[in-house]
Amino acid sequence: VSAGRLQAPRGTFDVLPPEGRRRLRLLRIADEVLTRAGYEPFETPVFEDTEVFARGVGASTDIVQKEMFTFEDKAGRSLTLRPENTAGICRAYAEHGMHKLPQPVKLWSWGPFFRHEAPQAGRFRQFTQLDAEALGSDDPSLDAELILLLDEVLERAGAGELRLRLSSLGTPATRAAYLDELRDYLRDHEHRLSDDVRERLDQNPLRAFDADHPGTRAVMEEAPRLLDRLNPEDAAHFAEVRALLDDAGLGYEIDSTLVRGLDYYTRTVFEYESPRLGAQSALGGGGRYDLLVEELGGRPTPGVGWAAGIERILLAVEEKEPARDLRIYVALAKPDASREGFRLARRLRRDGFRVEIEQAGRSLKGQLKQANRIGARSTVIVGDGYDVRDMDSGEQRHADDADEALALLRETGP
Ligand code: AMP
Repeated sequence: VSAGRLQAPRGTFDVLPPEGRRRLRLLRIADEVLTRAGYEPFETPVFEDTEVFARGVGASTDIVQKEMFTFEDKAGRSLTLRPENTAGICRAYAEHGMHKLPQPVKLWSWGPFFRHEAPQAGRFRQFTQLDAEALGSDDPSLDAELILLLDEVLERAGAGELRLRLSSLGTPATRAAYLDELRDYLRDHEHRLSDDVRERLDQNPLRAFDADHPGTRAVMEEAPRLLDRLNPEDAAHFAEVRALLDDAGLGYEIDSTLVRGLDYYTRTVFEYESPRLGAQSALGGGGRYDLLVEELGGRPTPGVGWAAGIERILLAVEEKEPARDLRIYVALAKPDASREGFRLARRLRRDGFRVEIEQAGRSLKGQLKQANRIGARSTVIVGDGYDVRDMDSGEQRHADDADEALALLRETGP
């Protein structure tokens, strides 16, 4: 039977060594940074009732309209692979009555997400997100804390210089009134706008702020800005977020045109970008979603959070020279030493050493070559007793039994 070679689905990837270790390193940084600030790990299913996203993310968004992997289960229920995390966590918060816990409830997670987008560099159909969320309080210090935590994760990961854009969207009512005002303003100056902007004026007037067209740009200089239309409470909330970030010495740009591709945001929104990446330069972003839990059937509960793309962060990280691993290699001087070697390797591992053993039928010369290839510091040659070889100097010391060999290895540390 001849079978064609199979491939991973379009837009997906396999994580091969050494990439797996880089990801694990980032996961550990995230755990450490977030745990110190009181965030606890949580997980929700990778698929949910489609309704969670339709209501949560917003039926008119690109994500819900074009990008979801939706399927029916055997009972005809519509399920969807999660395209983002916040709707699921809000569903869980309401479902488990988490309002009864001490507030705010602070959570973080790491896992796969799915969007049916056109694949390109840094854009996949299955990707991994790190998320942090705080529910149950609208205190502006949570917005600032979360931004600073994301900043710390990115800095410790080695993502380099970044651009942080920050804005506030106010309430849905403020936003709707503002969009009407902006449309009226654009209509009044219609003759100076590019065709493109004029055609999309009803659908998405905010696009006009991104235009390169000189006439449009001139019109936009004078255009009303959402940030100037916030109600007094939202403006005070945003001022406090900024004051806390200023106090922490964090640089950011206020960008009143920042909109994120999801419907649920209220008040604070922010996004980190890396100049090291191409078109897909957003490393992570988020904001406040004070109406979302209620939208999903829970009681009114404010929330704020962010999601960062693991693959993108690792694309932005410049590789440093990998540290030489301090490993031990157990070599077999003759084939009948294999049980002895196996026993020794197990003992050394239980003692905390990182140990690899000959398992491919190599000659002793081939084994020493392999020991060098994996970066072993010492090789224990098992045959007539144990010869402990320093791989840098080539010097060998003899041990009669395993205890003595262990003592020699301890002298130099694992
Ligand atoms: P979003 O909620 O859409 O802003 O996504 C949060 C972060 O997830 C983004 O800043 C990206 O780093 C990452 N991300 C989103 N979509 C994709 C994708 N299709 N492929 C890879 N990373 C993604």
